[in-house]
Amino acid sequence: MDCLFCKIRDGQIPAKVVYRDEVCLGFQDINPQAPTHVLFIPLQHIATVNDLTANDRQTVGHLYTAAAQVARERGHAERGYRLVMNCNGDAGQTVFHIHLHLVAGRPMTWPPG
Ligand code: 5GP
Repeated sequence: MDCLFCKIRDGQIPAKVVYRDEVCLGFQDINPQAPTHVLFIPLQHIATVNDLTANDRQTVGHLYTAAAQVARERGHAERGYRLVMNCNGDAGQTVFHIHLHLVAGRPMTWPPG
């Protein structure tokens, strides 16, 4: 399988890893959209949110608690931050290994474009 984020997980492509545990990996986005822009991926390859099953509920919850931990550690908890997971083309998903974006460190607008 030719998956960019699996290669980052396996160390075949370098990335600035900021979080790692037995379920997920967090690394800096290569094209950050805010002072903090970290991507959290499950170690297990899952292409899109459409591919999730009930067995993945804990894994997805894990991504959120990992992201909240990093946000807290970086001092973003009080002012706030955005967590986003894009699904397929209309939402702008470009890498087909699910990832939770943690975007923080500047005010943001809503709705997104
Ligand atoms: P998506 O658009 O799929 O929700 O988000 C994909 C994200 O992956 C983008 O924010 C993009 O900047 C990031 N990205 C793409 N290629 C690489 C890479 O090689 N390394 C890292 N660290 N991030 C990447």
